[in-house]
Amino acid sequence: MPRKLTPPVVTAESKAFFDAARAGKFMVPVCTACEKTHWYPRAICPFCTSDKVEWHAASGRGTIYTFSVMRRVKEPYAIAHVTLAEGPTMLTNIVDCDLDTLAIGQAVRIVFQETENGPPVPMFKPV
Ligand SMILES: [Zn+2]
Repeated sequence: MPRKLTPPVVTAESKAFFDAARAGKFMVPVCTACEKTHWYPRAICPFCTSDKVEWHAASGRGTIYTFSVMRRVKEPYAIAHVTLAEGPTMLTNIVDCDLDTLAIGQAVRIVFQETENGPPVPMFKPV
C-alpha cells in the first residue's frame, strides 16, 4: 500500500510547475539570459538575477546524488537528492524500488506521485 503523501504548498512561483504536473508534464525553470536551469522554482534566476525565466519540458531523467532510507516507520521510504539530466539537483523520494539495492549514481526517471487532495509531486524510480 503506497504511503499517503501530504500535498505540497503551492506558491506563486511554483504554481506553473504544479499545474503542469497535474497534466503529467515535468517542467523546469530555465533562465533565457544565462541559459541555466535551476531548481527550486524561482521568478528570479539564482545564477544571474535575471527575471527572464521560462518553463521548459525536462527529460525526467536523472541520477541519485545521495539518499537515505527511513526504516523506523510503518512504510519505509527513501529520501534522496537526484541530479537531473538538465543540471540541477532536487530533493525528492525514490519509489517503486527495492530499498536495499539503491545506489549513489544509479539512473532514475521521474514518476509523479498523487498527494491527498493536492497536485502530484515529482519522485523518481530506478530505470
Ligand atoms: Zn540566469
